Amino acid sequence: MVIGIIGGGASGMAAALAAAENEKVQVLLFERQSRLGRKLLATGNGRCNLTNLHATAESFHGDNSNFVATAMETYDVENTLNWFHALGLYTVAEDTGRVYPYSDQANSVVDVLRFALDRPNIQVLTGCEVSKVKANHPGFSVTTEEETYFCDKLIVACGGLAGSKLGGSMSGYKLLQKLGHHCTKLRPALVQIKSDWSALPSLKGVRANCNARIFCDHKLHSESSGEIQFTEYGLSGPVIFEISRDVCWEKGRWVCLLDLLPDLDEPLLPMLQKKRQTNLPAEELLTGILHNRLGRVIVKQAGIAGYVPIAQLEDWELEKVCERVFGLEILLTEPMGMDSAQVTAGGIVTTEFNPETMESRLVPGLYACGEVLDIDGDCGGYNLQWAWSSGRCAGYAAGKETI
Ligand SMILES: Cc1cc2nc3c(=O)[nH]c(=O)nc-3n(C[C@H](O)[C@H](O)[C@H](O)COP(=O)(O)OP(=O)(O)OC[C@H]3O[C@@H](n4cnc5c(N)ncnc54)[C@H](O)[C@@H]3O)c2cc1C
Repeated sequence: MVIGIIGGGASGMAAALAAAENEKVQVLLFERQSRLGRKLLATGNGRCNLTNLHATAESFHGDNSNFVATAMETYDVENTLNWFHALGLYTVAEDTGRVYPYSDQANSVVDVLRFALDRPNIQVLTGCEVSKVKANHPGFSVTTEEETYFCDKLIVACGGLAGSKLGGSMSGYKLLQKLGHHCTKLRPALVQIKSDWSALPSLKGVRANCNARIFCDHKLHSESSGEIQFTEYGLSGPVIFEISRDVCWEKGRWVCLLDLLPDLDEPLLPMLQKKRQTNLPAEELLTGILHNRLGRVIVKQAGIAGYVPIAQLEDWELEKVCERVFGLEILLTEPMGMDSAQVTAGGIVTTEFNPETMESRLVPGLYACGEVLDIDGDCGGYNLQWAWSSGRCAGYAAGKETI
């Protein structure tokens, strides 16, 4: 039995290894780029956050997010880590639950997968973009620029549109649509959010620990705590990625409210009042408490000129500063585009697939896995966990069944 797999990324490589466990199966793995797992190399800032110890079915989104349940139970985090350990990858978990290769290098993950794929019943075809697929009932024709291949079963693992410079494309959606499947609206998730707040250029590169809440027309949309990064054009960092899904998607006034001292265990006002005993100017009021540049911006936002001596500040002025520290309001304009997003929200409609096997309910012998489906995970290793779980689920199912 020949199984064609389109896409040599995370889910496609996992599917290929699973399918090839049946030695009677011959796998053809098509990858349009010159090497396998190119996007994987860029994940986790080059460290590859390959899973998260806290990943469960609840960590995922999509119109039918329950779809992940079976794959996530069968190929859960423990099972996935055992699988990677058997492939020779040594991993380490951070306190947050994020798991990385012990080497801290994403290429360790790609390498163990690449080495494992080097077996007689897997043929890796890199630099081979699939432009057309046809269901022959039974079997499929898979056409690349050079040749047309025939396979008994086909797994589409082309990924999503996010991270287009690293291989994200519309290809998988189009191939599956041609075979009769439907696609929901695609939008960027785990992405920076733009703002035209005038203070941003002076805060470029500043990081802070905060609690961030996003509101649309005063209604709470999402909330998270962690590190924020200010950029020239907007807000970034894990805390923003976490809450970026669907931001500015609907019309309305979108605002991010930052509590910049979420863990402070004593009142701030007396701390500031004490500073009146110094000879310092107001721009140093928050020095030692917040990042210097952030402190200066907050003082300015409170309407206080930086040169005024702290000794001359009234209580009501210090209270204004406290209000800004615990509730800095930043107006949001739009998310950055798909290029900058880590994952695509939306995708191929999952009710058209069997959640136990990832097989199409419309075209027997056709499977899909990974980001091409309408599933996206939280920030912190969840999207790769979905790629491993769904990829292995599809690979084992395709490899086990007879034709
Ligand atoms: C910058 C960045 C950082 C990220 N960091 C993390 C992280 O640390 N942890 C985490 O969990 N997730 C992370 N993600 C998300 C994660 O990488 C993806 O969700 C995951 O790789 C999806 O796996 P996939 O197999 O579905 O798609 P991909 O890994 O994108 O693989 C799809 C493959 O299919 C190939 N392909 C597409 N069309 C065709 C075609 N027609 N013919 C042949 N080949 C084709 C592509 O070239 C690609 O190699 C990150 C994403 C980005 C962009």
